[in-house]
Amino acid sequence: MGEYVRRLMAEVTAKNTNEPEFLQAVREAAGSLELCLERHPEYREARVLERFVEPERVVTFRVSWVDDRGEVRVNRGYRVEMSSAIGPYKGGLRFHPTVYVGMLKFLAFEQVFKNALTTLPLGAGKGGADFDPKGKSEQEVMRFCQAFMTELYRHLGAHTDVPAGDIGVGGREIGYLFGQYKRITNEFTGSITGKGLEWGGSLIRPEATGYGAVYFAQEMLATRADALEGKTCLVSGAGNVAQYTVEKLLHLGAKPVTLSDSGGFIYDPDGIDEEKLAWVMDLKNVRRGRIMAYPERFPNATFTPAQPSDDHNALWEVSADCAFPSATQNEINGKDAANLISNGVFLVSEGANMPTVPEGIDQFVTAGVLYGPGKAANAGGVAVSGLEMSQNAMRLSWTREGVDQRLQEIMRRIHEQCRDTAEEFGEAGNYSHGANIAGFRKVADAMLAQGVI
Ligand code: NDP
Repeated sequence: MGEYVRRLMAEVTAKNTNEPEFLQAVREAAGSLELCLERHPEYREARVLERFVEPERVVTFRVSWVDDRGEVRVNRGYRVEMSSAIGPYKGGLRFHPTVYVGMLKFLAFEQVFKNALTTLPLGAGKGGADFDPKGKSEQEVMRFCQAFMTELYRHLGAHTDVPAGDIGVGGREIGYLFGQYKRITNEFTGSITGKGLEWGGSLIRPEATGYGAVYFAQEMLATRADALEGKTCLVSGAGNVAQYTVEKLLHLGAKPVTLSDSGGFIYDPDGIDEEKLAWVMDLKNVRRGRIMAYPERFPNATFTPAQPSDDHNALWEVSADCAFPSATQNEINGKDAANLISNGVFLVSEGANMPTVPEGIDQFVTAGVLYGPGKAANAGGVAVSGLEMSQNAMRLSWTREGVDQRLQEIMRRIHEQCRDTAEEFGEAGNYSHGANIAGFRKVADAMLAQGVI
């Protein structure tokens, strides 16, 4: 690491000591950006990277609500407005007990690159609360969402800040959040994405992140004249991203064999087909059950409980060709990456944000694995959110085929930018460097043009 980046990292570390996920994300990007900053003294002189790592604004607020027993509960809500250089703040809301400001800063930081790569005019933000929707009644989830939005609404707006879903925030939560926003502001505007189809949503938005991660994989395979047909695929998670990753893999003739949640993972050697996927969607989205129920219904499959004390995740030990981590950050550690490689996986397309630790990324790159980092591979979700904003502004609804075609085209262009930029910097095949530099340059140029703000 050169002197400039070393000094900057020391400053960032000193200022954000208790935020390991944020520091991990910045360190990972800084490794690539060093190449770019060497060629662009104007970025260094204008302290672009120093500004890049400091959110434009962080809002923290109290969320008080009443549970079904009549007891008052208090959670902490956040919105990190990271960058408005190329458009209104845009990024999801996460409801999970592990949420704190450092987690959201890491996600908002990743979002800056990702949104720039989509080629759409989208700034970056991320928000959420340390609220756990799991085990809560419908009424409790609604009351929490209403209380959360009663504060957050004043920071939002179709041209200011437009949130969407993330872990723990799906169609149900978006409905309650949007309903409360509309009630308070007395305006029906596109101030949140992921809405239902009948009330301003876009076709393909629920599918977009998972489909996009598979389209990105297709593009990477095409560079080796290969395709997904017949490939055995590992998928982690069982939520929105995992479900639609499996669906698109099936459309393309691949064989997904795993799914997981925080309780453990299932392995189905016969493959998760359309009928099984429909059952999983009902289990997770309607009955709100756990993935451990899968082998009771499909007895050829096995369930392996999660062992938090283990130094590796047994899901990544299953033999396969491709892996689609779609659960959460740091779910592939160094040992997992080594297991994936030794078990034959030659492609990793990240549906989740930062699912692989830096040591794992290094191993993938060294082993020549086609490695699509989350900030590129999972950009399909925010891209279709951008398309939802366009449709809202025009008061139009595009067809399913129309949106899907745009999504495929956007994923193709993201892949192209990553590939070409990596080549330009002498790092051919390194999609991490490509994604970091291409995303950074677009935002950095806008920051230079807009002066010191
Ligand atoms: P969901 O809430 O729909 O599903 C999350 C899944 O991951 C669940 O199966 C959940 O299991 C599992 N999971 C969450 N946290 C943990 C954990 N700490 N350990 C083990 N498993 C965990 O979320 P999404 O599918 O929307 O998001 C998944 C990932 O994709 C996240 O990294 C998110 O940031 C990223 N992403 C999502 C986008 C979107 O459009 N939704 C866009 C881009 C990225 P359990 O139910 O047990 O918690």
